[in-house]
Amino acid sequence: MHYVPRILVTGGAGFIGSFLCERLLDTGAEVLCVDNFFTGRRTNVAHLLDNPRFEVMRHDVTVPLFVEVDQIYNMACPASPVHYQFDPVQTTKTSVHGAINMLGLAKRTRAKILQASTSEVYGDPEIHPQTEDYWGNVNPLGPRACYDEGKRCAETLFFDYYRQHKVQIKVARIFNTYGPRMHPNDGRVVSNFIVQALKGEDITLYGDGEQTRSFCYVSDLVDGLVRLMNTGDDVTGPINLGNPGEFTIRQLAEKIIEMTGARSKLVHKPLPQDDPRQRQPDITRARETLDWAPTIALEEGLRPTIAYFEEEVRAMLG
Ligand code: NAD
Ligand code: UDP
Ligand code: UDP
Repeated sequence: MHYVPRILVTGGAGFIGSFLCERLLDTGAEVLCVDNFFTGRRTNVAHLLDNPRFEVMRHDVTVPLFVEVDQIYNMACPASPVHYQFDPVQTTKTSVHGAINMLGLAKRTRAKILQASTSEVYGDPEIHPQTEDYWGNVNPLGPRACYDEGKRCAETLFFDYYRQHKVQIKVARIFNTYGPRMHPNDGRVVSNFIVQALKGEDITLYGDGEQTRSFCYVSDLVDGLVRLMNTGDDVTGPINLGNPGEFTIRQLAEKIIEMTGARSKLVHKPLPQDDPRQRQPDITRARETLDWAPTIALEEGLRPTIAYFEEEVRAMLG
């Protein structure tokens, strides 16, 4: 009989996690989605519940978990600055204790384990675009540190379990990703701007809006994650996954206004402390190792994202 792999996705009810669960089910795998529903939503995976190969479990990864699996995608962690700064101690615990528990699980079950790391490990980068060998420029004391240092420590744990316990690890450094199923109150720039535009509210540019980000559509990102998981044992990463198309935040606002036909004005709000000035992935390593590159340009990805938020805003306004 054909062997059906059992795959654990922590944070599986979140934005990226829910698309990942869907993609893995399409490959015929059994998928166990573990989530504490801090920022994730049951509705993100509601359409998968009828699938007998899919299971959802409410669980916090800071607590040990005993299940039998072949692969682990460790996606659990709030990703938006507003949410990860809401309870910063819990954010660090999620990254650090969560990594220890999931690595302990991987060690016992001999499962392969992939960590959803982040471009935030580069902090406010002094080199541009960012390559994987750059060590980063992170303020360990600032309001973003709970996330940045938590993720950095998780990477350290992954590499120590690899060296010390021979756990098969894969570390992906994910750059800004967007798409449908982002939480409308998530506070991140793409969701904020689209919701503001659709409601006809002012668009809030933090600072002068000249800081840059590079936005990857969620299906491209999920494709990169699955390719990375399926590499040979010699590939550990870290590997940058993101779309190199770089835009200023002002350009993003203007594009969203144009695409939604909104009459919103741009207004300035203070720039949050330690907000990175520029960010763009160098994806040479992903191209060479995974034969992967994003295929969806910003405008193309914004279309279905705007359509999704139109529904959300309609529901919000009743
Ligand atoms: P998200 O907030 O939508 O998803 C995170 C999920 O993790 C949510 O479902 C949340 O409820 C769950 N979660 C949080 N703490 C948990 C805990 N202690 N135990 C169990 N579940 C927990 O965010 P996302 O954008 O889908 O991000 C997914 C992962 O990718 C995160 O690890 C994030 O750091 C990483 N990442 C995302 C981006 C991005 O731009 N979206 C960029 C870099 C890294
Ligand atoms: N762990 C877990 N599930 C498992 C195996 C381990 O949650 O199937 C947890 C375990 O409780 C421990 C952590 O993972 O807190 C690290 O496990 P490891 O075996 O590396 O360390 P130890 O148990 O020796 O501290
Ligand atoms: N930003 C903004 N207005 C908003 C939300 C965010 O100008 O309403 C800016 C923010 O200051 C940052 C960029 O957009 O420079 C991306 O912010 P986000 O929170 O999406 O993610 P980050 O990459 O900073 O983690």
